[in-house]
Amino acid sequence: MTVAEQQWLEASSEAMRKVEMSTEPSSTCAICSGPCQATQYALGGFALHCCEKCDFYFAPEAFDALPDYDDAYASPAYLRNQVETIRATKDKSSFARIPTYRVFFDNTPLAQRRSLLDVGCGVGRFCHAAHAHGWDVTGIDPSSAAIEIGAPLAPFPLVCQSLADLARTGRRFDQITAFEVVEHVPAPLELVRQIDACWRRGDPFLHRAQLELSAGAPRHRL
Ligand SMILES: [Zn+2]
Repeated sequence: MTVAEQQWLEASSEAMRKVEMSTEPSSTCAICSGPCQATQYALGGFALHCCEKCDFYFAPEAFDALPDYDDAYASPAYLRNQVETIRATKDKSSFARIPTYRVFFDNTPLAQRRSLLDVGCGVGRFCHAAHAHGWDVTGIDPSSAAIEIGAPLAPFPLVCQSLADLARTGRRFDQITAFEVVEHVPAPLELVRQIDACWRRGDPFLHRAQLELSAGAPRHRL
């Protein structure tokens, strides 16, 4: 692990800051339609709102923004932080200490049934950590650029495929993870239904929102 990676890890490991709410609701929850307020957090440049009823964090301004995932993955910052780190790190199991991913490894013991699907895998950093810990990993992402970069580095399948298409194949997985995905899709319940269709009953599906350079992050098990 590089010095920069270690510093980033340490900075991200500080205690979660308390969310400060304004007094007036400013949006409606994408899951329960409850009143939501803007928080001090942002993700991808978009303000994160939080539902007063179900505690769901999401970025309503990102719903209409039609992100170009290929552009995001081609940015110098992304290449430096993720691709080069994958290339340079011999012990891929060390990625499990990244705070975004640690919640999975702290809470999910390796069982006999160990197929794992990572939704929105990008170039596959979490997948590398899970593979190094013994999981039978498959990653999917809508970005062909991310998959073209990540697949040659991965000793497991990284596939450019939508979750809806995968759900239609009838494949099932014992564990499903989605990091930094649910909070910026316009129809999170539809995403959860597709995840459910790919899921062999077991532990709850894990979703976590990692906030930009933040100390800690809200997370939910749905
Ligand atoms: Zn809600």
